[in-house]
Amino acid sequence: MHAPGSEDNPLQVAVVGSGPSGFYAAEALLKCGRTVDVDLIERLPAPFGLVRYGVAPDHPKLKEAILTYEIIARLPRFALLGNVTVGRDVTVDELRAHYHAVVFTCGAEADRRLGVPGEDLPGSHTATEFVAWYNGHPEYRDRHFDLSAEVVAVVGQGNVAADVCRILAKSADELRGTDIAEHALDALAASRVREIHVIGRRGPAQAKFTNKELKELGELANCAAQVDPGALELNAESRAELEAKANFVSAKNVEILRDFASRARGGKPRRLVFHFLKSPAKLAGAGRLQELVMVRNRLEGAPFEQVARETGQTESLACGLLFRSIGYSGVPVAGVPFDAKRGVIPTRDGRIVDAAGAPIPRLYAAGWIKRGPTGIIGTNRADSVASIKSLLADLPALPQDSRMGSKGVAPLLEARGVRPVSYSDWSAIDAEEVARGRPKGKPREKFTRVEQMLACFERVDQPAL
Ligand code: NAP
Repeated sequence: MHAPGSEDNPLQVAVVGSGPSGFYAAEALLKCGRTVDVDLIERLPAPFGLVRYGVAPDHPKLKEAILTYEIIARLPRFALLGNVTVGRDVTVDELRAHYHAVVFTCGAEADRRLGVPGEDLPGSHTATEFVAWYNGHPEYRDRHFDLSAEVVAVVGQGNVAADVCRILAKSADELRGTDIAEHALDALAASRVREIHVIGRRGPAQAKFTNKELKELGELANCAAQVDPGALELNAESRAELEAKANFVSAKNVEILRDFASRARGGKPRRLVFHFLKSPAKLAGAGRLQELVMVRNRLEGAPFEQVARETGQTESLACGLLFRSIGYSGVPVAGVPFDAKRGVIPTRDGRIVDAAGAPIPRLYAAGWIKRGPTGIIGTNRADSVASIKSLLADLPALPQDSRMGSKGVAPLLEARGVRPVSYSDWSAIDAEEVARGRPKGKPREKFTRVEQMLACFERVDQPAL
C-alpha cells in the first residue's frame, strides 16, 4: 500500500466546522495535488457558519463568499456531514481513529465578559445572541429582546457593534427585502427604540470600526449619527498614532466622526450617539436593566499602546436594553486542549499543542479558533492554507495505513440515532428556503428550527409507495 494521499490510500481528513476557515481548509486539501477525502463536519444541518449566521442581513455582498464555498463543495472527494456535533455525536478520539488528521475550524461562538456587577440582568445581552437571533440561528431563535425600550446601549466599538447599531437603527421596511429571519423582522417592526448609545472604552482614534462600516452609520435614512465635538479632542499620543501612515483606517475614522459631529440632527426619528473614554462600571435596575453606570477613562501609555484607565468620575445612562459587543471567544471541544484566557485552541504553525507546547500528532486548527476573532472573512483563507501546509508537511509522520473516514464514522452515528446531512440534503433545504423567500421579495426565508430543515429531505428519504 502507498502512503496516505495516493489513489489506493486516500488521505482521510475531518474538518470540524463549516464556516469560512473550514471551507478554505477543505479547498487547500482538495487542491493540494494528492488524493484527499475531506469530510466537513458541522453541528447544524446548514453549512457556512459565520457567513450565514454572523454577517448582517443588510450586507448581502459579504454573503457572496458562499458562492465560492458552493464551488468547493462540488469538488470531487468533498463531503458534508451536517447535523453532527463533535464531542457529543462522535468523539475526537473516534475521529482520530477513522481519519489520518483532524482540523478544527470551529470559530469563536462565545463572548468575552465585561466582568461588572449586573452584567447578567434581564435586558443585558451579548451581541452574539442578538446577531444569531436576527440571522435565524436555531439555537437563538427563541431569545427575546425587549425592543419596547426606547434607549439602548451597545458596548464596544468594532464592526459587530456597528452591525447591531444598524439593525436597531433601520426601519423594518429597510430590512424587509433582506434574508433577516421573519421572527426578528416582526419584532423589529414593533421596536420603540429611539436612542442607541455606542460606547468605547478608549478614544475615537482607537475605535475598531472599519471606514466603510463607520461611514454607513452616518448614512442611515431614519437615524442621525451624533458625536459631541469635545469628545473628538485627541491627546498627543493619539495624534501621533493618526500620523503613522499604516494607521490610515483610524485617521479616516476620526475624519468620519468629525463629519458626524458637524451635522445637525435633521429630524430623523432615531439617533445614534457615540461615546468615547467610558467603560461600564455597573448595570443596575430592579429585577431588570434600567441604568448603565459608566466610569470616565483617560488614556495612558505610548502611541499604539494606550490603555483606558479609570478616572473615578462616573455618569449614568437610563436604558432598558444593552448589548455587550466586546469581542468573541472560542469554546472548548471535549478532547482538545483549550487556552481559556485567549479563548482559542493553542497551536504552533497550525498544529495543536499540549500544555507543554508539544504538537499533538494529527490535530490541527485554523481560523478564529486558532488565532482569535480578528480580520475579515478572506483573512481566514491564508490562515487555513498555512495550517494545511503544516498538515501536508507532516504527511511522512502520519500513520501510513488506510483510514475509513466517513465510512468508519457512519455506523457510529447510525447507532446513536444521528442522521448526517449531506451537501445534497443541504441543497434541498437551500432550495426550499429560497422558494419561501420569493413571494416576500427576500433572497431566502431561513428555516429557524432544525426539525424544519431535516423535514426538507426526510420527505425525499421516504420510500415511494
Ligand atoms: P473587535 O473589532 O475586536 O471590537 C471589540 C470592541 O470591544 C473594541 O472596541 C474593544 O475596545 C472593545 N472592548 C473589548 N473589551 C472591552 C471591555 N472589557 N470593555 C469595554 N470595551 C471592550 O471585535 P468585533 O466587533 O467583535 O469584531 C470581530 C471581527 O469581525 C473583527 O475583525 C471585525 O472587523 C470583523 N467583522 C467584520 C464585519 C464586516 O466586515 N462588515 C462585520 C462584523 C465583524 P479596545 O480596542 O479598547 O480593546
